[in-house]
Amino acid sequence: MTHVHSTATRKFTSETRPFLICGEWRSTPVSQAIPCIDPATGNNIATVCGASRDDATAAIEAARRSFDERSWQDKTPAEKAKILWKVADLIEEHADVLAELEVLDGGKLFDAAKNGEVPMAAESFRYYAGWTTKLEGKTSRISSAGNAPFHCYTEYEPVGVVGMILPWNGPLVMAAWKLAPALAAGCSCVVKPAEQTCLSTLYLGELLMLAGVPAGVVNIVPGSGSVVGAAISESPLVDKISFTGSTATGKQLLEAAKGNLKKLTLELGGKSPAIVLADCDMDKTVEGVAAGIFSGAGQVCVAGSRLYVERPIYDEFVQKLVQHTNNIQVGEGFDEANEMGPLISETHLQSVLGFIQEAEKSGACVAAGGTRIKRDGFFMRPTVLVDVDDKMLIATEEVFGPVLVVQAFDDLEDVISRANASDYGLAASVWTSNVGKAHQIIRQIRAGISWVNCHGLPDMAMPFGGFKQSGWGREAGLEGLLQYCEMRSVLVNIAH
Ligand code: ADP
Repeated sequence: MTHVHSTATRKFTSETRPFLICGEWRSTPVSQAIPCIDPATGNNIATVCGASRDDATAAIEAARRSFDERSWQDKTPAEKAKILWKVADLIEEHADVLAELEVLDGGKLFDAAKNGEVPMAAESFRYYAGWTTKLEGKTSRISSAGNAPFHCYTEYEPVGVVGMILPWNGPLVMAAWKLAPALAAGCSCVVKPAEQTCLSTLYLGELLMLAGVPAGVVNIVPGSGSVVGAAISESPLVDKISFTGSTATGKQLLEAAKGNLKKLTLELGGKSPAIVLADCDMDKTVEGVAAGIFSGAGQVCVAGSRLYVERPIYDEFVQKLVQHTNNIQVGEGFDEANEMGPLISETHLQSVLGFIQEAEKSGACVAAGGTRIKRDGFFMRPTVLVDVDDKMLIATEEVFGPVLVVQAFDDLEDVISRANASDYGLAASVWTSNVGKAHQIIRQIRAGISWVNCHGLPDMAMPFGGFKQSGWGREAGLEGLLQYCEMRSVLVNIAH
């Protein structure tokens, strides 16, 4: 059945989208416009006003003012909770338009956006609405004053003005994962969506205003990384950066943030291993491993892109995996029959295809896919590569596309050391019916998040982030909230 876009989506995409500074939607000259390209067609589907460095500065100043005037941080925890809960309700009410924007602008599958990402964004606001009333310090008995009477306690404070620099692969969820805990902590925010995917973040901005977030507390300025991103990360008025993106850009942010020693949360790249033991349930594992790499067309930081299969089942497993991969239906996201959508852009598609060509030159063999699909938009076949060596670029670099490299292993010690032989340490999965072995392996893998008999499932209750060069800090859970807090210790001499 042909999908008919909602009236709200048609209206939203038919007008040039302004950006949000201090509660006002502001426009800029046409020369600064950012085109929004539908990855499924390559067509321009909307236009967004791009912010200049001056606009970024105005957004930062608005956030600073709102923080210093305490318009948000002094609301009671219960008042903050009510507003965050309202944001979640509004996200659900506007689920169709948000999901449609994720498909049109980000190349998502409509079903995945409507039933996965939109509810996850709503849940993020609800989860942190609950924490506003539970962010408690503690009292301590101290020793350094001897028996003199002291009352000592700790309390949390918001970290201040937070710059949020978003990636293009999960625009709505990433915005929600950062905004919800930052607002729950009492921070003011400047958000820069990725140039490729501004629409759902701007729409979320409208919902935040509607829910009653005071002017200046959330400012949204689309623009390039080198102009708007740099202005935010260099500004002395910004106390913290929360970034999701590539490891290379994460390292640049370290440099930019050092002027005023900003706090940094960095959610960076990965090259996550999936380890399949001979005693696994083969059919379910083939399906799960494929979903772990091909969901979101592999443009997912935790994608299970390195597969290690225990030797006795290697041949049969690869044969089933190739068959499964060849049956994945690829196409535009509004057609319910499609299981994998396009890549985000022509440039990115070329980069992914380049990795495959390079791998073939180095001796790897394409067992499934490997090519572009000849039609409009940025589509390619889900790809499985065999005859891969651990040292090949395809086995070490983050491809960020639907490309899986498969290798055999003979013993657990060997596979654990190969799985750990990476600069990254974001995620891992183990597939086995032996729970004890699963725990033993997981315990030795240097990764921030591990799954057993599944791969990629996120949850607000489970802290998310990486070891090694996959990042600093965690999102989600209480740990995610504390990234937006400072702690104060107070020692009161009550004999005075
Ligand atoms: P990708 O290469 O996949 O686009 P990036 O890490 O470059 O991934 O981009 C993630 C986000 O970081 C985007 O919003 C982008 O605009 C922003 N960005 C890129 N370069 C910089 C920079 N030098 N300073 C701040 N933000 C940047």
